[in-house]
Amino acid sequence: MGPHYLENFVQSMFDGIGGVKGKTLVVGGDGRYFNDRATQVILRMAAANGAAKVIAGQNALLSTPAASHLIRAMKTDGGVILSASHNPGGIDEDFGIKFNMANGGPAPESVTNAMFAPTKEIDTYYIWESTDIDLGTIGTSRLGDMIVEIVDPVSAYVDLMQTLFDFPAIKAMFAGGSRIRFDSMNAITGPYATAIIEDLLGAPKGSVTHGTPLPDFGGMHPDPNPTWAHELMAEMMGDNAPAFGAASDGDGDRNMVVGPNCYVSPSDSLAIIAANAHLAPGYAKGLKGVARSMPTSAAVDRVAAAMGMECYETPTGWKFFGNLLDDGRVTLCGEESFGTGSDHVREKDGVWAVLMWLNIMAATGKSVPELMQAHWDQFGRNYYSRHDFEAIETEKADALMAALRGSLASLKGQRIGPFTVEMADDYSYLDPVDGSTSAQQGVRVVFEGGSRFVIRLSGTGTSGATLRLYLEKLDTKSFDQDPQAALADVIAAAEQVIGISKFTGRTAPDVIT
Ligand code: ZN
Repeated sequence: MGPHYLENFVQSMFDGIGGVKGKTLVVGGDGRYFNDRATQVILRMAAANGAAKVIAGQNALLSTPAASHLIRAMKTDGGVILSASHNPGGIDEDFGIKFNMANGGPAPESVTNAMFAPTKEIDTYYIWESTDIDLGTIGTSRLGDMIVEIVDPVSAYVDLMQTLFDFPAIKAMFAGGSRIRFDSMNAITGPYATAIIEDLLGAPKGSVTHGTPLPDFGGMHPDPNPTWAHELMAEMMGDNAPAFGAASDGDGDRNMVVGPNCYVSPSDSLAIIAANAHLAPGYAKGLKGVARSMPTSAAVDRVAAAMGMECYETPTGWKFFGNLLDDGRVTLCGEESFGTGSDHVREKDGVWAVLMWLNIMAATGKSVPELMQAHWDQFGRNYYSRHDFEAIETEKADALMAALRGSLASLKGQRIGPFTVEMADDYSYLDPVDGSTSAQQGVRVVFEGGSRFVIRLSGTGTSGATLRLYLEKLDTKSFDQDPQAALADVIAAAEQVIGISKFTGRTAPDVIT
């Protein structure tokens, strides 16, 4: 909000993609504070920089997956998405600007580097002098020589969903009395979920809660996990819970799925979708392959092996799936951080994941707990949990990681509690499509028998460092334990190797998912 900051940022972004002269862009965001003001500036700067056309969501709104779809469907040169994802919004909270490429996916590092370079020397930006553009009225107008097209942010996305899922079957399930709760957390999925779940699929009015996007998300922290979506969790774990519960994040790309008294971990959600996606009309031919981020549990690997599909492991971050999707190697991707999606767009997609689950329930006639049980009976259960230690002083977090990296070479073969270390490394990824390498993507310690832990510093928080510890244990016999109890010896082994309490003074995580 400081003088010229946004303008310098946007000009550097435009310069980083070789200018926008003659190009068509999409713009929209999750409705958080500053979303509308930033859109006005971006439109005026696009006009002054010679863009041919900008397609904007009405009232500057677009979910991240809907923006990705518009970029692709309208054959544009890319798009600007205004959001800070699952981080809080408001005048003193977070705001962000992201550029997506013509394939609809996040700009790769080569492009973000090309945008960062000019920020260090920028001395000029171009902006059209005008009054505010009317963002509230659907239609076409001009800003100088540039066409501004304001579109319904929801309709194209809804059309796409109807090509992928069996809407009549899901509608029949709701007509039969099945209840759903979708918590939009006062963020962008409200209009999408209301249009699809209530208006088209016929779930009762009020099935979508917190359905109006607000600049400060009504004070909610729109991060769909059991901690921040506690209102939904309380209802789903209580008496008379609906058959299905879900929440999404600020910009609509993440999702959490819950059944009555049955929390579904994102890793399990990915595995169940992989095993059942062929039940949805858009995926009836089967999946080309699947991909998961490295810290995501190996539950989906077991499905892929049983079904004869290729399974790729990538670093954390949706951008790493882009090449695999564009190259036709995978159809389905997912991350333990509540992200699931397919090749229908180039972003993760919260509402898509919810519709996929509803389609699977409608096609099988099984409840969420029944689907989970059947899945574990067939594939075994990868008990899984993530422990987040938030706002750790950066120096302490760096010291912890440095000491751990230094100990990796000597870990192999060591006994730690009941475990023997099979492998310990700092994960490095070689992209099979473009041959690029991404190093230092997280430390993983794998024990004999399929248990492991992974630890990495996360880049998406905004104060200090977040240490994420990922814990996993395969069990092929007993499926009814509490994950924290089932993982107790892995948790203890991780603490023995890493020394989180010694380095940070923290004895318990801030968030457990
Ligand atoms: Zn997000």
